[in-house]
Parts: sequence; structure tokens; C-alpha cells
Amino acid sequence: MDTSYLAGEKPVTQLTTESVSLEQATELIIERAKQLVNRLVEDRGHDKPPFLPEEFARLQGIKPIVRANLGKTSAVLLRFHNGDVIKVNEKHHPVRRNFSCAHEIGHTLFTELKLGRAIEQIEYRKTYNPQVTERIRAKAKERLCDVAATELLMPESVFRKYLSGFGVSVHSIELLANIFRVSIRAAAWRIAEVSTEPCIALLWRLHQRTKSKALQLTWHVGPGRESRGKTNYAPVHTLVGPTSTLYKAYQDDSPVKSVKLFKLDNAAKRLPMESKGFGRGETRRVISLAFPE
Ligand SMILES: [Zn+2]
Repeated sequence: MDTSYLAGEKPVTQLTTESVSLEQATELIIERAKQLVNRLVEDRGHDKPPFLPEEFARLQGIKPIVRANLGKTSAVLLRFHNGDVIKVNEKHHPVRRNFSCAHEIGHTLFTELKLGRAIEQIEYRKTYNPQVTERIRAKAKERLCDVAATELLMPESVFRKYLSGFGVSVHSIELLANIFRVSIRAAAWRIAEVSTEPCIALLWRLHQRTKSKALQLTWHVGPGRESRGKTNYAPVHTLVGPTSTLYKAYQDDSPVKSVKLFKLDNAAKRLPMESKGFGRGETRRVISLAFPE
């Protein structure tokens, strides 16, 4: 008879996914992704980026990735008895394809860890609409696969090593994006997540609806890995007019320095921030890094 329960201990092997919260599910999938990264590093004998989805797919027993015309879909994972197949949108940019494929590999980790039950536990007291709950659950699942993809393409320890080599600055975003073969957006987000020097990443786009031009905040993240998309610091103003310093970063490619007001709980604090514009035309956006300390 197993008496460990009586002693109040829960053996690791008894940990079922029934008792797993979304936070724990996040930790589990990151852990699993890290194991896969370690296997790859061992397999090829070095930990130099890039970490490509093709390499992870091979380790996961997935057949060579197929580029296909998928319309608006980024990628699909097809599960066959003799091995999984990933099809990726041939029209998408290579860095986007990398993320899409890594996301699909995230789905295989999700299944291996039987995290579906953690997702099913998401209940919504405020809404009794099953469709809304279903949507929220689907989103949570996709988010977990994104978290896995992020760890696969930009392994925390390796990314941090390169980041500290380059320094936490808007200049490093493009360098890291090129080295790890990810988008500017993904690299900036990852900087805020893993930087040892606390930092908030923000992404601004041109605001369409106003008559006068303005930049609108699309998202912000960090500091700290724990925050995972949530952050204590939020900018007080999420719309930026054409006379501001920040707007200059949209107009040309040279980085600008400014000071921005952030709220932290009930207090407000002015933080130094650097910003740089990336892309052309419709994809033009400004990425800022703000420093709380
Ligand atoms: Zn997905």
C-alpha cells in the first residue's frame, strides 16, 4: 500500500493533469520545450542559434515540413498513425513560417502532456455562454502553444546570453531577430520576458480612425518572465500625437529617446524609453523599450 498520501506527500507520478491550473500548465509546457531544446543541443553538439522548427520536428518524429497554399491559415498539424505532418503557408515570410511551425510542434507537446484537461477547467462565472467559454479555452490553448514555440525558437538561457552580450536596447532587437530567425515583434517580446535588467516592450501602430495621425499602443509586455503578457506597468497614454518625440521614430529609422508616464498600481512614474521604427508601408510599426530602474 502506498502510504505517502498519509504523510501528506504527493508522489510526482501521481500528479495528474486534472489538478493542473493554467499557470502550472504553462510551466509544464515550457519545461517540456526546454527538454526538447536540450535534446537538440546534445544531438548537434552546440547551442548556437538559430533553433529551427525543422530540427525539432525531426526529434519529435514529425515528417519534413511541407510548404503549401493554405489561404489564410498559418500552419496545420496533421496527425497520422505513421507520423505527424506540418503544413505551413508558403506565402508567409520565413520568420513567420518558423513561428507557425514551432507553434504546431507546441501542439504535439500539449498533447503529450495531456494539458487538454487543464484547459477544460477554465470556467467562467461571469458568462454562462458555452460558446464564449469555448472561445476563451481555445485561446488559452493557442497561447500555451505560442509559449512553447517561443521557448523552442528563443531558448531562455541562450537568448539571455546573446541579449546581455548586445545590451538591452532597441538596437539589439533586429540583431536578435536575425540571429534567432524570428520576427522583430517576437524578439522584442522575448527581450522583455527574459531580460535581467527589467524592461517593458511596447508596440505602436498608426491609428487609422483619427483624422490627425497618431500612434496607438498595440501591446506591451514585461518586465519579468512571470508576467507572461500581463504587466504591472502600463503606459498612461496609449495614443501618441504627431508632435511627440515618439512619433519621430515612426517617421524615420533613427532611434529616439523619450520619457513616458507609466502607471504602476496606483502610482505613476516617468520612465526612460527608447523607440525605433521597423518595416515599411502597412507593416510599419514602432517598438519601444522602457526601463523601470
Ligand atoms: Zn494552434
